[in-house]
Amino acid sequence: MENPIAAMNPEGHLSWDTDVLIIGSGAAGLRAALAASEHADVTLITKTTLTESNTHYAQGGIAVAMNLDDTIALHIKDTTAAGAGLCDVKAVEMMVSEGIPRVAELLDWGANFDWEGTLPRFTQEAAHSRRRIVHKGDATGRETTDVLIQRVRNTERIQVLQNTFAIDLLTDADASERHEDILTCYGVTAIVEEQIVCIRAKATILATGGLGRIYPCTSNPKVATGDGFAAAWRAGCEMIDMEFVQFHPTTLFLDGAPNFLISEAVRGEGGKLLNIRGERFMEKYHEKGELAPRDVVSRAIQIEMDLTGFPCVYLDITHKPKDFILERFPTISDTTKHYGLDINIDLIPVRPGAHFMMGGIRTNTDTQTNLKGLYACGEVACTGVHGANRLASNSLLECLVYGARAGTNATAFARSQPEDPPNIPVPSNVGPSLAPPAGEAVETHTEATKNAIRETLWENVSIERNGEGLQETLAELQDLTANLENLLTNPEVKDVATIETVNMLNVALMITQSALTRTESRGAHYRADFPTPNDPTWQRRVLITRDNPLEVVPL
Ligand SMILES: Cc1cc2nc3c(=O)[nH]c(=O)nc-3n(C[C@H](O)[C@H](O)[C@H](O)COP(=O)(O)OP(=O)(O)OC[C@H]3O[C@@H](n4cnc5c(N)ncnc54)[C@H](O)[C@@H]3O)c2cc1C
Repeated sequence: MENPIAAMNPEGHLSWDTDVLIIGSGAAGLRAALAASEHADVTLITKTTLTESNTHYAQGGIAVAMNLDDTIALHIKDTTAAGAGLCDVKAVEMMVSEGIPRVAELLDWGANFDWEGTLPRFTQEAAHSRRRIVHKGDATGRETTDVLIQRVRNTERIQVLQNTFAIDLLTDADASERHEDILTCYGVTAIVEEQIVCIRAKATILATGGLGRIYPCTSNPKVATGDGFAAAWRAGCEMIDMEFVQFHPTTLFLDGAPNFLISEAVRGEGGKLLNIRGERFMEKYHEKGELAPRDVVSRAIQIEMDLTGFPCVYLDITHKPKDFILERFPTISDTTKHYGLDINIDLIPVRPGAHFMMGGIRTNTDTQTNLKGLYACGEVACTGVHGANRLASNSLLECLVYGARAGTNATAFARSQPEDPPNIPVPSNVGPSLAPPAGEAVETHTEATKNAIRETLWENVSIERNGEGLQETLAELQDLTANLENLLTNPEVKDVATIETVNMLNVALMITQSALTRTESRGAHYRADFPTPNDPTWQRRVLITRDNPLEVVPL
């Protein structure tokens, strides 16, 4: 379907006005749109199709303290334990308690999760002290987005623009009439069919998800190139905890297959990890064995791979009855079967991959950023709910809770704003593409740069880090940045691949610099040169902004 912005702007009148602009169509953006549309006109833009997001691929489920033997206090305790001293306890309390009505409402809206009698069927996942994960087989994300998308589609006040790629936030940084110290955000510039347009909004919500694609091995889909983190940083947002990237222990490692995620729930249901010699090894590393926190399992797998010189380990679920596997893990079963592997009888080759970003755009529990009129929620935001490491299945919960809060708060802000849009200068790159669409040479160049970023991050800024390696990567990233300098301000650059490359570089630099700054090991950040975990003097956050590169701040 033709994008309505392109359709309504045949003569180069390239702007679109809305009350509340939402960028991203994962659980956070969709839930925000539903809340915002109660009192405002909403435009939701998304990079490709409405269904393409990390959320859509989520498997295991949503953690929620609804089981009979569970309590809010226990869920908070497990979350803060996983966060290794860096969780914002107020934000965790809010997520866990408001999560209950948010999940109940999702069920009310028709989410067809698995049931057992009168209660959802709760499953177990690593580092949870109770069975508290509600799910739909191993396709919880698909079920969640289907329900939210259907509601968004049925809401008249929400206009959806697919294939609309947000580039930069519009702020009053260059406006001559600016009087305040605090910058205000007025929307974004975006690429729509090879032209750059302004989408002006009274309030803007960034819900652009994660950044797994900056690594070569990741569970994330192609859209996850960290665009929202980079745009926010360029606009002057405060970014915190950027060193904390979570690596999921088990992504499929099979010739010709993508790094498809093999859910934690497989280990939750008794799946065992074996090295190439057929030895079970997790007991050596943690008392909880296969159900140890993700960083511990990922590191243990990496060590076993190094010790045996083999590029993967194996996950064994063959002891479970075939019917159980088919019912509980239909997506994993089907996908692996497609690549010639039958998980009822075969061991699953797995290794760790980049999965989730704990850090991001600093927000308070009302999802406000340090830019007026700009809100952030979901994986791109950092309220501090995950601390140094995310507890399994807390992310979808976060999206539902903070997505709804973002929608409500952004709408209240939008309603307090004057009717007429302010006079913000139009960026010089706005307009149709004069040059021919990006050719093969540009594509080859950007692909080579993307791969160089991925390789150096994997080598030095992944599961295990050390000062020397981080310095090496920092220098490499700085060289790559120098090569791409001025691309963003070049009015001829209107292709998604080039801007994604710049975004990946911005984000890779933030992660590397933050990881260098934190000279300790904590949660998902492991420094081999500072292996003792959780140095009390480091119970602080690393803050990074465009104009004030690095600061260590209290919790
Ligand atoms: C394979 C997999 C399994 C997972 N399993 C679970 C699980 O079981 N439980 C759990 O709690 N968590 C799970 N997670 C994590 C969880 O799914 C994500 O953290 C969460 O869904 C993020 O939601 P979000 O709305 O913030 O972002 P996303 O769902 O990633 O959505 C981001 C949206 O922003 C859009 N976007 C990005 N850049 C731009 C741009 N420049 N312009 C316009 N649009 C843009 C994307 O296209 C997308 O629509 C899993 C993640 C993966 C990858």
